Amino acid sequence: MTVSDALPSTDFIRTIVSQDVQAGKFGGRVHTRFPPEPNGYLHIGHAKSLCLNFGLARETQGLCNLRFDDTNPSTEDVEYITAIQDDAQWLGFDWEDRLYHASDYFEQLYQFAVRLIQNGHAYVDSLTADDIRAYRGTLTQPGKASPYQNRSVEENLNLFTRMRHGEFTDGAHVLRAKIDMASPNMNLRDPTLYRIRHAVHYRTLTTWCVYPTYDFAHPLSDSIEGITHSLCTLEFEDHRPLYDWVLNECEVTCHSRQIEFARLNMSYTVMSKRKLLQLVSEGHVRGWDDPRLPTLKGLRRRGYTPESIRNFCERIGVAKRDGVVEMALLEHAIRDDLNRRAPRMMAILRTLRLVIINFPEGRVEEMDAVNNPEDAGMGTRKVPFSRVMYIEREDFREDPPPKFFRLAPGREVRLRYAYIIQCVQVVKDEQTGEVIEIQCTYDPETRSGLPQSARKVKGTLHWVSAAHAVSAEIRLYHALFLESNPNDEKDGHDFRSFLNPNSLEIVTSCYVEQSLAKAKPGTSYQFERQGYFCVDPDSSENRLVFNRTVPLRDSWAKIEKSPKILDKNVDK
Ligand code: ATP
Ligand code: MG
Repeated sequence: MTVSDALPSTDFIRTIVSQDVQAGKFGGRVHTRFPPEPNGYLHIGHAKSLCLNFGLARETQGLCNLRFDDTNPSTEDVEYITAIQDDAQWLGFDWEDRLYHASDYFEQLYQFAVRLIQNGHAYVDSLTADDIRAYRGTLTQPGKASPYQNRSVEENLNLFTRMRHGEFTDGAHVLRAKIDMASPNMNLRDPTLYRIRHAVHYRTLTTWCVYPTYDFAHPLSDSIEGITHSLCTLEFEDHRPLYDWVLNECEVTCHSRQIEFARLNMSYTVMSKRKLLQLVSEGHVRGWDDPRLPTLKGLRRRGYTPESIRNFCERIGVAKRDGVVEMALLEHAIRDDLNRRAPRMMAILRTLRLVIINFPEGRVEEMDAVNNPEDAGMGTRKVPFSRVMYIEREDFREDPPPKFFRLAPGREVRLRYAYIIQCVQVVKDEQTGEVIEIQCTYDPETRSGLPQSARKVKGTLHWVSAAHAVSAEIRLYHALFLESNPNDEKDGHDFRSFLNPNSLEIVTSCYVEQSLAKAKPGTSYQFERQGYFCVDPDSSENRLVFNRTVPLRDSWAKIEKSPKILDKNVDK
């Protein structure tokens, strides 16, 4: 089997890589890297990049490195280093012993810069930042050369050495590449390669006070690690000529190939690390792992599995043009995964008391409930059934609209895994008129599994026995933003002004079935007819907390919104 046969999908990157392999480029090797900057937590966009880089390496029997792109001391922190590794591992990726840091290469990078100066390809500029910007020109006007552009090699070396040794303040000088101030590509107008930053780097501490820019450090780090294909997002397309210039002028042995792909954008959320940091630090969400965030920590806490995220990334594919992916697709991926693995349970979010008046007081029957109809291997469990039950408030309507097949006065429905019941009486609060209790009779012949149980009724409700129920808090999550594209900040709107004030809904008086009493944080369940839920780490011995990962598709809500849908099977 050749490498190209092994590639499962045929996106343009995989095509390029397999052509390179066939042509014997890089000796037929494939070596990629995932290069996060440790200035924030990983999000679903990074998952796309992880899947691409590690996936490509796996498919080609190649290698993929994890490299921290840590060249900016003021925003980086070990907190992020730990979290990023933890998340990448959780998602299922293994860099073995290939964990690197751009800061490992600071000395080598510095020597490359010295070589550029010696060859007349770089110079120390002493213009102010404002002047550098002004001299750079615009998209329509060429830039003009700095008065310092023609300093002698000796003077440049002298100044650059003194920059390194801390003789100058931040911003006093920068090292720039000498390329072409008139280039139509702004990135080639003598870009900055080094700047002075008197700051403590989380790793190299105060060893350095000059730091390389991304455009200088990235290609060289790739080359030092022998990276063959350096995959990055589209906004770096215009940087590619600079990437190649750096590698050419530094006369490296491995000239990595940069290929750009579209970054992942999703509706109703933000993905920029700067914005995520704002949401966290200003308290708009409860932390980096808030289940409303698209961070991997947030998705994980919400109940997303690594498999579902990897499947999602595979489904969205890799393209050359930016687009926006609907949140519904991510939700589809987790439903698909949990449908197969999550045990079914019964839980009541908004309680309505139901009394079976002909069921003897004190009697408890054990009903057999199927743990997962998709997987017989998951077995069955016993669920206690008694006289007083909790059902979902929305499963009863005193005045049922057409197509409402649940409980109503005089109506019969089945209680799942148990009996057919009939509503005989509605008890209301005298003051408010609110329905506070439903009284029913049950038909003992109709217990699930008995011959009479074949009798058809239109609705089946889930329930928990009041005497056996375990109380729980359930957190429901709604879109974090009210606008599908909160990044659209035109007309002076800040993205935070689009925040949904009701994105977190906490329901405190829920009841779940007894078998969940000892459920462990991180475990996922399907609550029948409701959705997928996972135990939150806030749970304690005597207080269960669940997060709703995603609702099941609610066909009734759809009908109520759009009466045109009249599929008679909708309310099953
Ligand atoms: P930001 O612009 O929010 O700071 P970034 O791109 O600088 O994000 P990095 O930590 O540098 O974030 O990203 C590490 C890798 O992940 C890079 O290769 C980057 O291209 C990729 N990446 C980041 N965001 C996305 C995204 N939304 N979709 C796909 N890949 C992404
Ligand atoms: Mg970056």
